[in-house]
Amino acid sequence: MSADASLNAFVTRERIEGSDDGPLAGRTVAVKDNISTEGVRTTCGSAMLADYVPPYDATVVERLKAAGATVVGKANMDEFGMGSTTETSHFGATENPAAPGRVPGGSSGGSAAAVAAGEADLALGSDTGGSVRNPAAFCSVVGIKPTYGLVSRYGLVAYANSLEQIGPLAPTVRGAARLLEVIAGPDDRDATTRSGGADADYADAADGDVEGTTVGVPTELFEGADEGVVDTVEAALDDLRDRGAETVEVSLPSIERAVEAYYVIAMSEASSNLARFDGVRYGISGGYEGDWNDSFARAREAGFGEEVKRRILLGTYALSAGYHDKYYKKAQDARAWVQQDFDEAFETADVLASPTMPVPPFERGEGLDDPLKLYLADANTVPANLANLPAISVPAGETDGLPVGLQFVGPAFGERAIVRAASAVED
Ligand code: GLN
Repeated sequence: MSADASLNAFVTRERIEGSDDGPLAGRTVAVKDNISTEGVRTTCGSAMLADYVPPYDATVVERLKAAGATVVGKANMDEFGMGSTTETSHFGATENPAAPGRVPGGSSGGSAAAVAAGEADLALGSDTGGSVRNPAAFCSVVGIKPTYGLVSRYGLVAYANSLEQIGPLAPTVRGAARLLEVIAGPDDRDATTRSGGADADYADAADGDVEGTTVGVPTELFEGADEGVVDTVEAALDDLRDRGAETVEVSLPSIERAVEAYYVIAMSEASSNLARFDGVRYGISGGYEGDWNDSFARAREAGFGEEVKRRILLGTYALSAGYHDKYYKKAQDARAWVQQDFDEAFETADVLASPTMPVPPFERGEGLDDPLKLYLADANTVPANLANLPAISVPAGETDGLPVGLQFVGPAFGERAIVRAASAVED
């Protein structure tokens, strides 16, 4: 269990010093525990990897070190990134410093809680379907999910590769943008990466200047959301109008299929990615009593938690012969539909605004018995992953004393546009 008794934001506290100078000199960073750190254990919040120590650094960790940052520990998370509350961690739940008694969100809950409580200046999380933005919203900090391909996934333990990106969390928009500058850009070890182009100065886009910006408001992302959350976001949109932004209603009809498509794709990819944890090369061992299949089964039975097992089963089912076309292929069609809807919306809008989460932070235990309820709460975050687009969550205020996050989604490589819009809300 963790040494950090108060919040349980860290699975492992260990300092990794960076170079003496650089843009992040003197800054401390919490790194989500599914991002590989050479010589420092990387558990993914799982019993399976409780003693796993990677022999290499993820590209983002190399870049942190080169930029002068000091890593202060490995942040708690839902097991393998599967969850929205950080309650599925083998290492226990994390507290929400911004809403005591409530969950910090997830799956990067430890990263967000560490930043919210000042236990780290900055943090890295990973976002497959909202796992940076959801905890940012619940803990009242800023979180960015970059455009797919902007940040290297080399050294990130894969959950669903076609959807996920590593992203920054920070107390301010400028801080998150600065960290994004450090980790972004091409990497020979991840063939999906590319440059953010000439517009890769993200921090200086945090100038609050939204005069003339067209903010699209997708009606579907407000329907069914908690009233207090909607009111808080609407008030922030009023402020943006006062600052010279124009808001226009837009429609994303495909949203009604987004959560289903996301979960079929994410679980399918997960069932394939997690096949490597067989207790032979790394992770807990199943022993050997004359049959390897028994050995694998013992390791996986003991090493994986309930939510991870559920997803491996469902993902394997969705990919199996006879069902592949019915589930996986249909989900891919829905994904294309979501992408098309966003393309159309960006013909009129520069950025799209909505609540990050349709609800305020859950009470502890609220979602554990009802996985479907948690899945449905991802409705506003998963579309950006399906469409490979950049998105940011910025604190917009409170409802009944609980934090509310506002999300902006931008066109591909439109990080500057979402940073600018979010900095206006922050002001
Ligand atoms: N709640 C989503 C899931 O459980 C998001 C996870 C993530 O982004 N890693 O899949």
